[in-house]
Amino acid sequence: MDWADELAQQVRDAGPQVVNDSKTPSGTVHVGSLRGPVILDAISRALRANGIETTLLYGVDDLDPMDAQALLTPDAVDYEMGRPLAHVPDQVDDIHASYARHHAQIFIDTFAGLGIHPDRYYWMSEHYAAGDMDPYIRTALDKAALVRDIYTRVANVRHPDTWHPISVICPNCGKVGTTIVTDWDGERVFYECRPSLVAWARGCGQSGWISPFGGNAKLPWNLEWAAQWSLFGVTIEPNGKDLATAGGSRDRSDTIAREVFEREPPLNLPYEFLNVGGRKMSTSKGRGAAAHTIAEVVPPEQLRFLFLRYRPNHAIDFDPEGTDQVPRLFDDFDKFAAATAGREVRGELAPGYEATFGYSLLDPDANRDAEAAAYRAPFAHLAMLIQVPGVDVVERVESEKGSALTDRERALLDERAVAARAWLDTYAPESALLTIQHDALPASVAELDAAQQRFLARLSERASREEPASGDAWQTLIFTVATEEGVPGRRAFEAIYRAFLDRPNGPRAGWLLASLDPAFVVGRAREAGGFAGTVA
Ligand SMILES: [Zn+2]
Ligand SMILES: [Zn+2]
Repeated sequence: MDWADELAQQVRDAGPQVVNDSKTPSGTVHVGSLRGPVILDAISRALRANGIETTLLYGVDDLDPMDAQALLTPDAVDYEMGRPLAHVPDQVDDIHASYARHHAQIFIDTFAGLGIHPDRYYWMSEHYAAGDMDPYIRTALDKAALVRDIYTRVANVRHPDTWHPISVICPNCGKVGTTIVTDWDGERVFYECRPSLVAWARGCGQSGWISPFGGNAKLPWNLEWAAQWSLFGVTIEPNGKDLATAGGSRDRSDTIAREVFEREPPLNLPYEFLNVGGRKMSTSKGRGAAAHTIAEVVPPEQLRFLFLRYRPNHAIDFDPEGTDQVPRLFDDFDKFAAATAGREVRGELAPGYEATFGYSLLDPDANRDAEAAAYRAPFAHLAMLIQVPGVDVVERVESEKGSALTDRERALLDERAVAARAWLDTYAPESALLTIQHDALPASVAELDAAQQRFLARLSERASREEPASGDAWQTLIFTVATEEGVPGRRAFEAIYRAFLDRPNGPRAGWLLASLDPAFVVGRAREAGGFAGTVA
């Protein structure tokens, strides 16, 4: 059983489940932010697989104040900072109705591509405007003293006795981040829009009585979160570990749910971050690894797998820039597939690997065993093959497989070839970029010693006789000849790389030679093997 199935077992007898997550659309979304939605989706699939009626919700907290100056045009900063994200115009000249819609939509658009299909998306600005939040606003204001007491008890945050848990959207300047409420008469609140309430936005100084209902005001985050749980009947809501600290956001909202809205908070499953390049990147700062950018290189099933292969409380380090982490992600995925298909794999796999593989698939109704058994060309091999001029990739892959590809395998190959090309164009290290030295013997063969030359000459001779066809056959022949000639493996590979790539290192040599025209390989190895005779 994997962790998602364990959770499903835990709530098996608790009736229908509502799984929820929500996000503030404050800027470009980092790939790590996909961990939540992917976890939510796997939980929903596990619940459904266990026969539990499940609703998956995803919300956009778009009435939150704009506080990310960097993403505003300079002339917009004074006016827009502190206004609800839903009221800030789209800073990009495309079709979105607001700044919030722009950033939320780009993020949400990656969901369907990842096989995540919430039953419903909700936008908090709409629920406030429709009056759905009014009962919770009234309760929070009626119990303002209790809310202040909870902040003191749970978070050691002491609000003045006049503080009320609501933020009015200033009717004069439209800002929500700059207002405080100091009184409540049962129908209206007294608000002040303070010039220096916060450092990042400037209020206009207006004050007065106003109704807090119907979209005129929003609850502070901890109360809004707890109110969402009541409004939508949420039973399971995992959150990032940063919110799960003692006295932190989740603790506060849990207590508010119990004591103010009198409802048991949802089950939590705190999840760790995805660290990109050793840095925990926030959603609004830094160059980052934007979710939609990574999704262009890593296909959906491998991206789901990246998040699902570890338990949620396990931090993930992912650094695609200039490393082999993308190829290794594919290799690990293939290993889970192989093990699920009952094939022998090297190393140990976490318990529940079949479930993890299944939940990584794009289609929740896919035949897991058939998918696991499908042939997948190793990513690094493919990344090399597509760089060899004139090579017939399908033919090469079929010869490695030993039979024709099925339609499904062909589709997987096409997807993977696109990913490999995208990887070579973006994250791949220099060492992955190859130029086959077709035209002439590379200068670098001058570095070969006599033993390496002997090895190449002998390899040429044996290959012309034995005609190895697959990468494995080539790899075996390379090792055999190296052993016979008393050349250490590393030196033998170096000889091949110098003769064909004009450099001392490269991809798996067997694959490299198998991808090239056999006559060219035999001729070049012979030529490079005889080079000693003409230099000295
Ligand atoms: Zn837009
Ligand atoms: Zn104002």
